[in-house]
Amino acid sequence: MARQFRAAGHEIVTLTEKADLAVVNTCAVTNEAAADSRAKIRQIGRAGVNEIVVTGCWATLQPQQANDLPNVLRVIPNEHKDGLVSGLLNLPSESFDLEPIAREPLPGLHHRTRAFIKVQDGCDNRCTFCVTTIARGDGRSRPVAEVLLDVQAALQGGSKEIVLTGVHLGSWGQEFGHHLRDLITAILRETDVPRLRLSSLEPWDLSAEFFALWDASSGSARRLMPHLHLPLQSGCAATLKRMARKTTPQSFRELVSAARAAIPEVAVTTDIIAGFPGETDEEFAESLAFVHEMDFAGGHVFTYSPRPGTGAARLREQVKPALRKKRNHILHDALEESAKSYRQKFVGQTMSVLWESTSEMGEWGWRMEGLTENYLRVTAMAPSPRWNEINEIRLNNEGEAGKLCGTLK
Ligand code: SF4
Repeated sequence: MARQFRAAGHEIVTLTEKADLAVVNTCAVTNEAAADSRAKIRQIGRAGVNEIVVTGCWATLQPQQANDLPNVLRVIPNEHKDGLVSGLLNLPSESFDLEPIAREPLPGLHHRTRAFIKVQDGCDNRCTFCVTTIARGDGRSRPVAEVLLDVQAALQGGSKEIVLTGVHLGSWGQEFGHHLRDLITAILRETDVPRLRLSSLEPWDLSAEFFALWDASSGSARRLMPHLHLPLQSGCAATLKRMARKTTPQSFRELVSAARAAIPEVAVTTDIIAGFPGETDEEFAESLAFVHEMDFAGGHVFTYSPRPGTGAARLREQVKPALRKKRNHILHDALEESAKSYRQKFVGQTMSVLWESTSEMGEWGWRMEGLTENYLRVTAMAPSPRWNEINEIRLNNEGEAGKLCGTLK
């Protein structure tokens, strides 16, 4: 959208106060995300922006509420999001098709070293907690050629890491008889991307065969980052069934051990929901034991919140909010503990880090922060800023907030 506004002669500004118009892309994945979206719109209105355009999942699900917020000019549902800029500016949508795709960095402090490229949208599954699929519609994939153009443009713009994203990334290509591994193979073959990372992958979309992409004997495998984010949601078979997830603890266990056998030191991270309707003490205990067993390299715990229109919101046995929170803390601590022991394995090793931020520390030089290939957050000092460089770093010890402290080689 920013690119299209620019192509039409508009300027993207850093400070809200300087904007004539703001576009807010809302989220509805949890009640909290929806509340944050509303707070953001109000905050932008208070900062003096008189024309706010609201889009994204929350706006699609609650268009009237979105429209009633101060200074909202228009609400654009997800299905018309692609034409948001052309519609607002009264331009034919084809006017952007011929524009060269240039990825200039957006102004502001948060420079992007990693480019997030969306290759897929929507989902054909109906997990009973998920509102995203209602808000986004059925799954659809972008063709390989279009994704390649985007990857090339991001690389020309200086990005060192490409992250492939999608609402249901693992289903990419299924409507035209392809699999995500075909897209990955094409990107590694057709581009010089130094680092290619995959975002969240539903476990049932993968098989042991998929991990052959990381086969060390293929020259390009090292450019594919050893990191898999596999949402588990629950480690209890009965809960998973009520969630309508197409996975079981047993199939998840087999998948993770196949991944670990094929990709040395792979980071397997996850998402878990705490307090899904009907989750008894026994189910929770089973889930927690499975989380311990999987030894995840990290993850997120979401406290269950009923989303209107979903199957789970209609289930009668809703877990009390206080208990959901308590289970969240317990799961969070379990993930923290396994994440810590995963990090500890790399203390004393040398790893390559892409620096995402640098800040000047006076006579001490520059403090840099970035990610290793297997998604460990690392900080180090350097005599000059090295933003967007990939350096070899020796990892010395664990610092604050789960970051490893390292020294430049
Ligand atoms: S697979 Fe993912 S996006 Fe699709 S319904 Fe389930 S949680 Fe939602």
